[in-house]
Amino acid sequence: MTDVVQGSERPDSSAPADPSHVRTGLDAEDLREAITDHLRYSIGRPAAALRPEHYYRALALAVRDRMQDNRVASTQTSLDLGKKVTCYLSAEFLMGPQLGNNLLNLGIEDAAGSALASLGQDLDEVLACEPEPGLGNGGLGRLAACYLDSLATLERPAIGYGIRYEFGIFRQEFSDGWQIELTDNWLANGNPWEIAKPDVNYLVNWGGHTEQYVDDSGALRVRWLPRQVIKGVAYDTPIQGYGVHTCNVLTLWSARAVESFALDAFNTGDYYRAVESEVTSETVTKVLYPNDEPEAGKRLRLLQQYFFVSCSLQHVVHIMDDLADASLVDLPERFALQLNDTHPSIGVAELMRILVDERRLAWDEAWRITVATFGYTNHTLLPEALEKWPLELFRDSLPRHLEIIYEINRRFLDEVRAHFPGDVDRVRRMSLIGEDGGKTVRMAHLATVGSHAINGVAALHSDLLKASVLKDFYELWPERFSNKTNGVTPRRFLALSNPGLRGLLDRTIGDGWLTHLDRLRGLEDVVDDPDFRREWRDIKRANKFRLSNYLHATIGVELDPTWMFDIQVKRIHEYKRQHLSVLHIIRQYLRLKADPGLEIAPRAYVFGGKAAPGYFMAKRIIKLINAVAETVNGDPEVNRAMKVAFVPNFNVQSAHLIYPAANLSEQISTAGKEASGTGNMKFMLNGAVTIGTLDGANVEIRDEAGPENFFLFGLTESEVEQLKRDGYRPEDYVAANEELRTVLDLISSGQFSHGDTEVFRPLVDNLRHDDPFLVCADYASYVECQDRVAAAWQDRDAWSRMSILNTARSGKFSSDRAITEYCDDIWNVGPVTVTLQD
Ligand SMILES: *Cc1c(COP(=O)(O)O)cnc(C)c1O
Repeated sequence: MTDVVQGSERPDSSAPADPSHVRTGLDAEDLREAITDHLRYSIGRPAAALRPEHYYRALALAVRDRMQDNRVASTQTSLDLGKKVTCYLSAEFLMGPQLGNNLLNLGIEDAAGSALASLGQDLDEVLACEPEPGLGNGGLGRLAACYLDSLATLERPAIGYGIRYEFGIFRQEFSDGWQIELTDNWLANGNPWEIAKPDVNYLVNWGGHTEQYVDDSGALRVRWLPRQVIKGVAYDTPIQGYGVHTCNVLTLWSARAVESFALDAFNTGDYYRAVESEVTSETVTKVLYPNDEPEAGKRLRLLQQYFFVSCSLQHVVHIMDDLADASLVDLPERFALQLNDTHPSIGVAELMRILVDERRLAWDEAWRITVATFGYTNHTLLPEALEKWPLELFRDSLPRHLEIIYEINRRFLDEVRAHFPGDVDRVRRMSLIGEDGGKTVRMAHLATVGSHAINGVAALHSDLLKASVLKDFYELWPERFSNKTNGVTPRRFLALSNPGLRGLLDRTIGDGWLTHLDRLRGLEDVVDDPDFRREWRDIKRANKFRLSNYLHATIGVELDPTWMFDIQVKRIHEYKRQHLSVLHIIRQYLRLKADPGLEIAPRAYVFGGKAAPGYFMAKRIIKLINAVAETVNGDPEVNRAMKVAFVPNFNVQSAHLIYPAANLSEQISTAGKEASGTGNMKFMLNGAVTIGTLDGANVEIRDEAGPENFFLFGLTESEVEQLKRDGYRPEDYVAANEELRTVLDLISSGQFSHGDTEVFRPLVDNLRHDDPFLVCADYASYVECQDRVAAAWQDRDAWSRMSILNTARSGKFSSDRAITEYCDDIWNVGPVTVTLQD
């Protein structure tokens, strides 16, 4: 950039700038004014010392200003009109970078680009300065973020409630091919998006015991005498809808020490003990727990969950108290509380505690309110991921809540006995208290009993939920169950991350697809137009080139953008079966080594994803992928036709580069294990063709795309269960398949590990003798399917057709469709048009 302009001259620099425009104006001149204003008054740096990150912060503050009037008007409008509000309770919000998305939703991308250019800055360089708020592990947290975007865009009043983790998901690096975890200090340079609300704070009790007392009216009551009290402080982040004035809020709670406790210690002269109390209190929101950890039952995790749920419910009750036209018994008419998985499910007992103990409502009335207000979304059928708290830990932490849960359970089990007389085993199965292997509190049962609506996240998942983990509950209350297939926001995952395709779509079908994704169907009219197909391919190639440049800069691997990009990015987990893909890669490697002249369509295999730090097998899968990559990429005999790249630190930021670059989307989990997936939808939206099992939302993706535009392989969910019932023996599949045996032997031989025969032994032994996720059983089908993929790729025109039709038919997978269903069927929350007064 040339002509760097210092200072803030406008053409009419003699006249003072309209101060309101500095905060609200949306054209390039106003933005430029606002940026220079923030550089001077908020950043406080001399012009000579300004770097792109300062421009990032100044622009972010200017953009935040522009959302504030919308934000205030949104709350005011829904309060004035008495409209119902959705509260989305989630322990994770994987928001990704905010600046680009907010510029898009406000419609000021071009203006911001021009404003920065006039200051000698490049928008892309400035955007790259934003640290990622990684307050989630993967799909579940990202879903919450997509849903906030859709709620605002659909003009539905909503609050997201979560935890302001000081350290988000760890940053991943590789050392000798092994995953290294580094702390993610995302707040190091401040966070321009949030507004601290120290006056919005609540006290949260923890530990101690309960006692009975007689209140002034002579009634017997219970009070909780806690061991510890922690303060929660609100931090608000605006959530701007696309093309509307609606601006909702994400409220994240941060833990503080309670001053009066510390003061007490000060008075006795024990300064250091006072500071220590601060240290332990503030630990509550220090760090995000990685999921998929085999070890569960961490007390601090329970405290995190209770802490943010209690603050959120106190906040909601506080808002109810301030309403002139409603009282607490009207809660279900004014707020819908959605539990994103069981992490916030303690909310059921907490709302009962507030209503019965603090507000002195009768139990039955309190229970009616609670059930009518809560909804529960289940996200997993994996038994190890269903939350259960050891009873003693729970009693020691939340003694009053345990009593309340016992009372909920007593009444609930009476209802079960009345419905199913004499069915003793059913009562045992449905109890909120698990008895097998040490007593536990079953959080999924608490969430289910305390909610009027329970949903799974894809059609198959919802059916399995009703047939397996929640079968007994479905038989009791079939009307409470429904399906809400996940979705993703087309604003972030198409418009923002694939600007080339966005332009082509706008030119071809207009820009209505951004809010009406079904309009992508219009592409079916041009699927056979050769010019359109050429443009389609050019865009995909440019996206591959962009990813290749990124990979070159980060890991030194360059990929040829004319090759097929075959991509698997997601958390590393045995059920997701990254190792199945590795077995196929090694098979291709062997074929090329055996026949150096082999004609084979060149392919780049790209992986990305983090493993939970304590997940032994997943970390070894990462090591294996990197080891195979090193061998393949370093061998000219094979790297003329294949390369392998592992993108370190897969997050939302790198996702923007990855999904749009894919030709082939790997969705190869063991059928029945992936609840829905959302990565599969992001790939489809961006024109990748899926190779996948009939699992999660893959089933619906195939239904929409048409079976001829989807590469299906593998056992179905019922075949998987049948095989397990019959006694699955991976040895038999290995014995019957010479190629699979050779592949496994090659890993064991040390070929990919400089002769080390130990490093991959646990992985290979597990596949040969246990193989809980049926990698060996699905190997032959997967490899055969990959051969069909390779053959299809040879006909580039036919492939482009498949690619275009995948995008054209991806409309169902918009989070706008999903949120409309939640609003209509579960929350009963309608749109509220927000307008701004001048
Ligand atoms: C979409 C997304 C996920 C979820 O991917 P799945 O393939 O559905 O497991 C995880 N992490 C990030 C950063 C994502 O954007």
